Amino acid sequence: MPPELTAAREVSVFGDAIAYFNEAAALLDLDPGVRLLLTKPSRQIIFSIPFQRDNGELEVYTGYRVQYNFARGPAKGGIRYHPGVTLDEVTALAFWMTWKCAVVDLPFGGGKGGVTCDPGSLSLKELERITRRYAAELVEVVGPDKDVPAPDVGTTPQIMAWFMDTYSMHVRQHTPGVVTGKPLTIGGSRGRVEATGRGVSLVALAQMAEMDINPKGARIVVQGFGNVGSIAAKMFVERGAKIVGISDVTGGYANGKGIDIAGAVAYAQEHHSLDGYRGGERVTNEALLELSCDVLIPAALEKVLTIENASRIQAKLIVEGANGPTTPEADHVFASRDIIVIPDILANAGGVTVSYFEWVQDRSGYFWKEAEVNERLAEVMHENFKRIREISTQRRVPYRTAAYMIAIDRVVQSMNARGVYA
Ligand code: NAD
Repeated sequence: MPPELTAAREVSVFGDAIAYFNEAAALLDLDPGVRLLLTKPSRQIIFSIPFQRDNGELEVYTGYRVQYNFARGPAKGGIRYHPGVTLDEVTALAFWMTWKCAVVDLPFGGGKGGVTCDPGSLSLKELERITRRYAAELVEVVGPDKDVPAPDVGTTPQIMAWFMDTYSMHVRQHTPGVVTGKPLTIGGSRGRVEATGRGVSLVALAQMAEMDINPKGARIVVQGFGNVGSIAAKMFVERGAKIVGISDVTGGYANGKGIDIAGAVAYAQEHHSLDGYRGGERVTNEALLELSCDVLIPAALEKVLTIENASRIQAKLIVEGANGPTTPEADHVFASRDIIVIPDILANAGGVTVSYFEWVQDRSGYFWKEAEVNERLAEVMHENFKRIREISTQRRVPYRTAAYMIAIDRVVQSMNARGVYA
């Protein structure tokens, strides 16, 4: 069934993703066959993950890996551990990775993986067993020149270390370049943990400058207080901004005077969530998104800005830290209300950019200083933001459409150069 029909039948995450692709593709002079090919994943893998609970009971989870497109290089994309993981979601995420890697001009295709599980309810040993079995199932199809996973929601540098170790044991060769986002001691890159949040703040600040929003005193709301959200919040505070709302899966916290982010990070680390945090008034996650602010950073999951709440959003600028937080319907409402949206495929591309730096460092065996990583990251984010701004102005389209146009064009150029092996 064509993806357009899937989208019409049930509004899937992949259906939303395809809708954005179609808007941009319509503005490019694409060969219909190539366009069709780009709406199909190259490979989808589903498998069972039997694992033993600490109490000896056997359980079976489902694992996924989708390799969406290889035109520009090995597939690249994170591994998600979350109860909501489905093939549809992983496919959409792999699809976005294809455009994200292209929009920042990295020599990678797009991929994504996941396990439907609740990592918060699993012990470290259980997580290790699941991860090792997950990696073992994928040994033939991942590798530095095939597909390079990384962390995503619910996965950590430690999980990447287990993945890398399992893969290296199977292939009988130390292979740090099989995953990125690893701990520093086994070939991780300095600056990788902070890279996505740093990239979010870099593009947000660049756009705020265009809008004459002074970062000093700017009011920011951040949904999701994990790797991306908490680090973006920290970077804004360093620039003098006020974080007036934060949230995680347990709920939201609002404070017009500005939340003490260092304190909230310490609280979340100690209690494994923000539950019970007293540095702000308790609000729901829905209400948090509608708080009065200059910049809203959704940094949790997909589909949180929808037709239901789009008209009540008060931010002037939305910077998508998460993948797919805005539905196409909500996006149109924002455009009609002159609310600027920096799309996920650019806004959160800092992570994959430093993952690329990590892969390069692993392959050369030479590791860079943190200042060098951050400097190169800033260059990539600023250069590509500028390019998107130019296309957006020239073609009179929103940033998202401009970003997709650039990304699709780059992928198609690679496909054309290689030809289709049909
Ligand atoms: P994470 O697991 O570190 O944090 C996720 C946060 O979201 C947690 O605070 C969690 O409690 C919160 N959350 C979960 N469900 C929620 C809900 N329903 N309402 C509010 N908060 C909720 O994950 P992360 O790595 O920070 O990823 C966040 C988003 O950023 C995801 O969409 C991910 O795909 C995207 N992303 C991450 C990276 C990266 O490098 N980590 C890179 C690019 C994109």
